[in-house]
Amino acid sequence: KWKQMVADDGRQSSSVLPTPSRFLLNLSKPTLPHPQWEEISVMDERNTPMRTYQVCNVMEANQNNWLRTRHISREGAQRVHIEIKFTLRDCNSLPGVPGTCKETFNMYYYESNNANLWFIKESQYVKIDTIAADESFTQVDVGDRVMKLNTEVRDISNLSKKGFYLAFQDLGACIALVSVRVFYKKCPLTVLNLAQFPDTITGGDTALVEVRGVCVNASEEFEAPKMYCSADGGWLVPIGRCVCKPGFEENKDGCQPCRPGTYKASATDAYCTKCPPHSSSPQEQAFECVCERGFYRAETDPRSMACTRSPSAPENPISTVNETCITLEWSPPRDTGGRGDVTYSLHCRKCSGDSRKCTPCGSSIHFVPRQFGLSSPTVLVTDLQPDSNYSFTVESQNGVSDLSPTPKGTVVINVTTSQTVSVVLKERRSKDSVTLAWQGPERPDGAIVEYEVIYYEKREQNYTVLKTRSNMMTVEGLKPGTTYVFRVRARTDGGYGTYGGEIELETRLPRVRSYLSIRIYNIGVQNIHDHKAAVHFSCRHCGYIKAKQDPDEEKMQFQHGRVKLPGSRIYIHPHTYEDPNQAVRDFAKEIDASNIRIERVIGAGEFGEVCSGRLRVQGKREIYVAIKSLKAGYSDKQRKDFLSEASIMGQFDHPNIIRLEGVVTKCKPVMIITEFMENGSLDTFLKKHDGQFTVIQLVGMLRGIASGMKYLSDMSYVHRDLAARNILVNSNLVCKVSDFGLSRVLEDDPEAAYTTRGGKIPIRWTAPEAIAYRKFTSASDVWSYGIVMWEVISYGERPYWEMSNQDVIKAIDEGYRLPAPMDCPVVLHQLMLDCWEKGRSDRPKFGQIVTILDKLIRNPASLRELANSSACREDPSTPELSVNTVDEWLEAIKMGQYKENFSSAGYVSLDSILYISVSELAKMGVTLAGHQKKILSSVENLQSQGTHVQV
Ligand code: AMP
Repeated sequence: KWKQMVADDGRQSSSVLPTPSRFLLNLSKPTLPHPQWEEISVMDERNTPMRTYQVCNVMEANQNNWLRTRHISREGAQRVHIEIKFTLRDCNSLPGVPGTCKETFNMYYYESNNANLWFIKESQYVKIDTIAADESFTQVDVGDRVMKLNTEVRDISNLSKKGFYLAFQDLGACIALVSVRVFYKKCPLTVLNLAQFPDTITGGDTALVEVRGVCVNASEEFEAPKMYCSADGGWLVPIGRCVCKPGFEENKDGCQPCRPGTYKASATDAYCTKCPPHSSSPQEQAFECVCERGFYRAETDPRSMACTRSPSAPENPISTVNETCITLEWSPPRDTGGRGDVTYSLHCRKCSGDSRKCTPCGSSIHFVPRQFGLSSPTVLVTDLQPDSNYSFTVESQNGVSDLSPTPKGTVVINVTTSQTVSVVLKERRSKDSVTLAWQGPERPDGAIVEYEVIYYEKREQNYTVLKTRSNMMTVEGLKPGTTYVFRVRARTDGGYGTYGGEIELETRLPRVRSYLSIRIYNIGVQNIHDHKAAVHFSCRHCGYIKAKQDPDEEKMQFQHGRVKLPGSRIYIHPHTYEDPNQAVRDFAKEIDASNIRIERVIGAGEFGEVCSGRLRVQGKREIYVAIKSLKAGYSDKQRKDFLSEASIMGQFDHPNIIRLEGVVTKCKPVMIITEFMENGSLDTFLKKHDGQFTVIQLVGMLRGIASGMKYLSDMSYVHRDLAARNILVNSNLVCKVSDFGLSRVLEDDPEAAYTTRGGKIPIRWTAPEAIAYRKFTSASDVWSYGIVMWEVISYGERPYWEMSNQDVIKAIDEGYRLPAPMDCPVVLHQLMLDCWEKGRSDRPKFGQIVTILDKLIRNPASLRELANSSACREDPSTPELSVNTVDEWLEAIKMGQYKENFSSAGYVSLDSILYISVSELAKMGVTLAGHQKKILSSVENLQSQGTHVQV
């Protein structure tokens, strides 16, 4: 009578604990009087024998038949899934059975470290669920085909002991248990960004498990790699990365050694590169190349620089003697050794007259600017002795000279300093002139070009220089009876000689006193002060934020009075009013408290309770309203902030913005009255109705929100806290943007967290530029809108799940974006990604979003391609069945009740249903949203699979 013909098809995306044959099953309580579960062999449709456990004591009352497994080890998993396949007999189909016949059975578990319990008391078991059949036999003569196999999956969470026992309790049904599959899910071992993440068992109740990655061979951490293992067994949110060590580069399998002739010096370099000139790497894995013979690399040289050598000698030396100073100059070496850091050092030796014997100069002479490490090819040597021979060796060197064993390139300059002019031999004085005669140097270092006579009045600073080619001069125009000091020196081809000794001479006194003018060359140095004008750019700080805002924001703030831009009205910030009460009077209608009837509390706001109730407006019917009241004991500031929400809301008039009915300010409590939204806030609403809407319905909600936001952005209002929790839903599923209080982002929102800059921001919903530097614009609202889209399509899932705010900020900065939620059309996920563009000008405007969503609604086929229809997302409980007719298909997807609706609407072949729409379904009487969704999603599968339908 019980013929089981569908085998366990073995479809699974995850590990399986012991197979049924290994652990099933022991009959317990064998002493009970009536037959219990029996182990029976039957044939499946391919005539393969298989074992089932059956019980069918429907004729007798008071059944309590237990079947339990052996101990099943949990292997470290905290959450285990149990898939059971069974058939269950419909009581109505059994002639003459009493009313005690059941169509359900119970599944239990008992956690234990003991793997050998032979008896477990009924009361010790924890109930997993009561299992009912989706399908039951109605007829015995099912022929050769069995289609009534039920598959149910249940979870047990937070397991902690070594293992558990499963038990099935029959209370009088007719059941055949075909297979029990116990499995847990893992995130499979994977390698990403050169970090290996181990096989990870998914978490228990907390959805995400944080896993640290280990850098693969020959790589090292650049930033600690981590990922999250989701409850579905998928990896999410990669953060950080490893990089190949020096000497290795990344390829598709990990890190490979650099080939000979190439090298990689730093882990952060991307690739191995060719050795630079004059170097080579004969082995693989080189992190630097070795210099050729005679070439070197200085310690501070980058590894990418060519190897270099010492420079050649300096060339073309020239010397110019000036008294006991010498200027030495030379040309840079012809070969700089391949470097730009050539410097010069000098060594000085003083030599005898015949230059045979030279000794080091000692420290009495000086080099300007310095003796060693000169960067320019010139030096001034001072404090030499006159009439002496010197030999200077100029040495060139560079950054690798010290590494090279070869001697440094040098050039020698021999110089003789000038002689002193001989003492003045003759002198003649008058009252206003002095005549001097002198003898030239005995051994001049070249032909004498001229003599220089310098004189000055004793005790005066200014002196006069006169030049002559002869060795005699009359200096005229002197003051009578005045003492002058004179000195003479010679100039040869090689420069000036040293001055001879000073001669003091006094002019004669005049007979008649007269004043003479003296030509004076003032050679004193005058300090010139460079008076740089101190230019002060005085910056006047503007009192309004407006000056700092970009054009997006500029329009919105601080415009007093109603300003009209062509075609749009501009929102007026209540703070621009000196008297905030005036703003309330301007934008909100005063309501007489006697017209309000408060009925019940529906929520808690920042300033007090939120209630629902009714408002009687003269000449109109009573309407349902929400009433926010300001709790007693408020401060002036609280009253102002509370009412600011009304003065903002009162400026808006749009079907997707919550409508202000009015305020009560003349008596206490102060109240704000808005339209009533029967379904409350959107996030709670979606969680409550998980999976119950069609994609089109969800897109319709999103369209409404986008339209409300377009209106706000057209009015230059930036919301700053757009999130599903701040959207309200009415009974027609119309979504309206709400929450306009001024202080709300700072105080009210439990999601808001303090940022490093001090402000409180709902991180998960907020654009990066708004988090980083408080750049709130309509474009940052668009980012938040993208998050709202994700919340809506995932039915109220928390964005970025349990990740910490810090990790969210980091992940976003690294380019991570939320993946498509389950069953999310590709186009919608793409639109979300567009809203999450890093550059705010790259994000769509709300007007464009509305247009895009309108197009999708008009053309639902564009929503068919799902972003994540991959195998890992498949529900293991939905096997594929082959169907040939519309009726078979409806049966297969458990929508058999609509067979007649379809046939009478003319849908008789499978082809005809391929492009069916929601409105057609509604017309033919399929009005339940859940059923419409089920049918349409199956049609989508039908399109992609031919006649293989996902049930
Ligand atoms: P709020 O202070 O605006 O965040 O309101 C607190 C809670 O009261 C919201 O989360 C809603 O559940 C509820 N609420 C506020 N306004 C309305 C309304 N107009 N209609 C229905 N429920 C509302």
